[in-house]
Amino acid sequence: MAKPVVAIVGRPNVGKSTLFNRIVGGRVAIVESEPGVTRDRLYQDTEWAGRSFTLVDTGGLDFQESGEINEGVRRQVELAINEADAVLFVVDARAGLNPDDLEVALIIRKSKKPAVLAANKVENFKFETDTYEFYKLGLDEPVPVSAAEGLNTGDLLDRLVSLLPADTEEDYPPDTIKIAVIGRPNVGKSSIVNAILGVERVIVSDIPGTTRDAIDSAFERDGRHYVIIDTAGIRRRSRIEDPTEKYSVIRSLRAVERSDVVLMIIDAVAGVTDQDKRIAGYAHESGRASILVVNKWDLLKKDDRTMNRYTEKVRKELGFMQYAPLIFTSAITGKRVSNVLELVDFVAEQHSFRINTPDLNNLLKEAVTRTPPPSEKTKRLKILYATQGGVKPPKFILFVNDPALMHFSYLRFLENQIRSAYGFEGTPIRFALRKRT
Ligand code: GDP
Ligand code: GDP
Repeated sequence: MAKPVVAIVGRPNVGKSTLFNRIVGGRVAIVESEPGVTRDRLYQDTEWAGRSFTLVDTGGLDFQESGEINEGVRRQVELAINEADAVLFVVDARAGLNPDDLEVALIIRKSKKPAVLAANKVENFKFETDTYEFYKLGLDEPVPVSAAEGLNTGDLLDRLVSLLPADTEEDYPPDTIKIAVIGRPNVGKSSIVNAILGVERVIVSDIPGTTRDAIDSAFERDGRHYVIIDTAGIRRRSRIEDPTEKYSVIRSLRAVERSDVVLMIIDAVAGVTDQDKRIAGYAHESGRASILVVNKWDLLKKDDRTMNRYTEKVRKELGFMQYAPLIFTSAITGKRVSNVLELVDFVAEQHSFRINTPDLNNLLKEAVTRTPPPSEKTKRLKILYATQGGVKPPKFILFVNDPALMHFSYLRFLENQIRSAYGFEGTPIRFALRKRT
């Protein structure tokens, strides 16, 4: 199911970031903490009244020093709105209506996207004086809020989620493997997709309307169903370039949300960039299976050690994704393109593999006997019992005497033990600790 995306827009200093943090704040991050995952606070999944959505902070929109909206800024605002399912438009009730607010409102109205207007910095609510002039924006009734103090933000969110489009169910056959092809612009996403579809000589059907902006190619191979979610075609269609690449990231996330397996495409010539790390980090955190596809391999001068060296480099750059298999492709020559789907099958299987409980407990017992947990003063961690609580990704529940005694490094050790026995290639592994005495 696709999560709707909500973009927070507005002039600088109206309180967008404050509101963003207020809405997503206090939310517990994913249990697993991995060093090296590049994270920025641009977007965050959140939930209100049972509706999940992804909130995007456009706080970084580069308005001019003078504060005036120029062509570049207008395009960025358009892009942000273009990517969103709904808009949270923030104005500053203390500063009052500003000509730039009118410009932003015009863009929102033209987009026809559902929008909520937040009149921020209202700590003492006096309806007329605080919000009256914002009716001129031609949007719905302004909602007075104080992001700083958290006043009335509940009402704002009620309004917002009521505007979100209904969740779209996708009616692919249940065994369908959904593949998200993600990566920076120009790394070869579309070329890879076309090459895969070409090799398979499949019957491709574009299924429009599953989500507003996705281009899905569904096909069958050896009786198995696949859907490739191509994020690149969307950019072509929208014909808006995104020099900052900021919004291409958002598009990638949406594809990841809907997928089982992620093909993370890396440009062999450019190597792993910071943007790549960010995109891969999201795939990792989302718990999807991942394959690292180093594309444009034909463009490198190679000797017999190039591939090994390249592998080492990628492993170092994407340390948090050691589990992801690497494949070196050329969409142009077709090299190894036919192996990509085999890898997809493989990691999809690993992603949903289950260890039976006795085997898991035996494995952990042996590991703990061989390498006991480090003791802390007088107390030592005891693992009493373990079970696999879920798949996609595999999640292990460890019942322990005191969860506080577990160290990240010991958890990593246990993960390695599980991986060396069962593989789980291509998929992250999660742990949950439960206290039991
Ligand atoms: P952004 O540029 O739109 O992301 O704005 P920020 O969130 O960085 O906030 C700009 C300034 O407004 C900061 O000094 C905030 O402390 C202040 N601010 C944000 N929300 C409120 C609010 O609800 N009330 C008041 N009085 N100040 C606020
Ligand atoms: P996307 O933006 O990630 O979808 O990238 P495209 O598929 O549009 O490819 C961007 C450019 O790289 C195009 O000019 C492609 O022809 C080229 N390209 C894609 N894959 C390869 C490859 O494996 N080798 C070479 N030499 N060029 C490629």
